[in-house]
Amino acid sequence: MLSIQRNVPLDDLNTLGFSANAEYFVQITDIAQLPLLCEYCQEQKLELLLLGGGSNLVLGDRIGGMVALIDLKGWSSESLKDGRVLLRIAAGENWHTAVDRMLDEGLFGLENLALIPGTVGAAPVQNIGAYGVELKDHLHEVEVYDRAQKCFTRLSRSACHFAYRDSVFKSLEPDRYIITAVTFILQRDFNPVLGYSGLSELAGRPYLTARDVFEQVCSIRRSKLPDPKLLGNAGSFFKNPVIPPEQLLQLKQRFPDLVSYPDQGRCKLAAGWMIDRCGWKGRREGQVGVYEHQALVLFNAGGGTRTELERLMANIQLSVQQTFGVWLEPEPRFYPAIKN
Ligand SMILES: Cc1cc2nc3c(=O)[nH]c(=O)nc-3n(C[C@H](O)[C@H](O)[C@H](O)COP(=O)(O)OP(=O)(O)OC[C@H]3O[C@@H](n4cnc5c(N)ncnc54)[C@H](O)[C@@H]3O)c2cc1C
Repeated sequence: MLSIQRNVPLDDLNTLGFSANAEYFVQITDIAQLPLLCEYCQEQKLELLLLGGGSNLVLGDRIGGMVALIDLKGWSSESLKDGRVLLRIAAGENWHTAVDRMLDEGLFGLENLALIPGTVGAAPVQNIGAYGVELKDHLHEVEVYDRAQKCFTRLSRSACHFAYRDSVFKSLEPDRYIITAVTFILQRDFNPVLGYSGLSELAGRPYLTARDVFEQVCSIRRSKLPDPKLLGNAGSFFKNPVIPPEQLLQLKQRFPDLVSYPDQGRCKLAAGWMIDRCGWKGRREGQVGVYEHQALVLFNAGGGTRTELERLMANIQLSVQQTFGVWLEPEPRFYPAIKN
């Protein structure tokens, strides 16, 4: 049931395009493989790295232990009495293709999250978000294999502890759950979310459809973000820091044009703006650099290494800290973890 390979290159399985080798590698296509996989890793004392589309992680040269590519497929739906629809999608389905298909089936709510790379199963891990919508807004429950209890179970939205780019899967219990499927709760009525600047121009359009919003989101994203197939990257490299209003007031005295957004009584700062202000936009160090059109994106121009990227990251963190007194946290997860 488990077809385990040794020394498998992961170069094409991470969007930063780093050269990496997995000591052990297995592809999971059936949930029945998961208890066997966990038992095997426990017996052999192997660490387990779950891999989706590889678009939110930074790999080192050698990944000791087991890498499991989650390739579970499936799609089913159930209509509720109130007109809404529960849509269950298996973890290995491609996220963007799933959003596209939702619209084809007349299921609305997640159109603002078009063109985010990766899999459905990884989407709850950092509660993906873009253009005023977060995954949690339309999530019903997450199906998992619980490695601690050795059983399959379901987590309600509240049990997932979703927050900005965070969840139980990312910080509270990062190695406990293997996500096998996600169920969304979607509308048959289209209620556009157009607060974001690039979308607000659609507000006056007669007969606006969810497909129009989807296309507009894709077009904005293509103009702003590098295609990982052409330039290795992991999307936004840093989280936007959230600070108390008093700290923002002080910062605004020194930087009146500092970009910030209200965030549940606190203030979210635009990390890209701060990185740009520190002079990093478009800078390159060796084979890695800061994208010229969006300072939040770090790239690998080809042949770059994780060591180079870590150095660049640390230099940016330091200069933002020295200028604004704010520390930038990276958004992707590092494997192996960074040594402090
Ligand atoms: C160009 C670009 C643009 C992006 N734009 C956005 C954006 O707008 N908004 C946003 O939020 N993110 C964005 N991202 C980040 C990324 O696409 C998302 O975080 C995505 O959900 C990661 O999916 P993945 O399948 O590639 O996950 P991976 O990178 O493979 O894994 C990410 C993490 O999830 C874990 N994981 C993967 N699968 C499972 C599973 N089945 N069960 C449990 N854990 C699992 C992994 O172990 C890892 O810790 C962008 C990335 C790129 C490259």
